[in-house]
Amino acid sequence: MIDSNSPTNTQERPDLHRRGLMFILSSPSGAGKTTISRMLLAADDQIKLSVSVTTRPARPGEIDGVHYYFVDDADFDRMVEEDDFYEWAHVFGHRYGTPKGRIRNALKEGQDFLFDIDWQGTQQLFQKDQQDVVRVFILPPSIAELRRRLEARAQDDKDVIDARMERARAEISHWDAYDYVVINEDVDACFAKVREILHAERMKRQRQTGLIPFVRELMT
Ligand code: 5GP
Repeated sequence: MIDSNSPTNTQERPDLHRRGLMFILSSPSGAGKTTISRMLLAADDQIKLSVSVTTRPARPGEIDGVHYYFVDDADFDRMVEEDDFYEWAHVFGHRYGTPKGRIRNALKEGQDFLFDIDWQGTQQLFQKDQQDVVRVFILPPSIAELRRRLEARAQDDKDVIDARMERARAEISHWDAYDYVVINEDVDACFAKVREILHAERMKRQRQTGLIPFVRELMT
């Protein structure tokens, strides 16, 4: 039996150069995107989180440079002016953006990046770089379950939960702008599916830039 955790299951060859990909996970809040992202980062050392810049204050336990780069409005304005973002958007009254910085060069080196961004950011990123972007949308099993999960967090009061539910419905309406859609009925099963998508996408011919010399060699 093939061990689904084994890196050999991806059929990847470290000696064959491959271009990195931009793996986007979006979902309404409460559908499990953050959990799945964490599982993916822990299980796969070829993918790194793209750390966003935000003007929202840090929550308890959040670390600057790890969860986000926390900046003030003036810094964010400066970055917009200097064209330092792939994309940026207003979300829940704050601004969030993806800094270009190291991503462009690292993709060439074969580094994959995980993006935990909403549909607006996904659309902008896709417009800038279609060939490297893989868009995955995670859906909750039902609206009742989504509300239950948001309430179980017990982090927010009722008004905030209502606002998040409304935003969740709006976010769900963009499901058809994604390449893959996974329903998160069970977190382990959902994670396994997301991982299969990542593995398959890495094998796309256009990303496997090392194939040309390899195949030439096979044919001589
Ligand atoms: P939170 O404040 O709960 O960490 O994130 C709120 C929302 O902002 C989430 O839906 C998240 O996907 C979105 N978000 C986080 N970083 C970015 C970013 O760089 N760009 C965009 N467009 N959305 C982001």
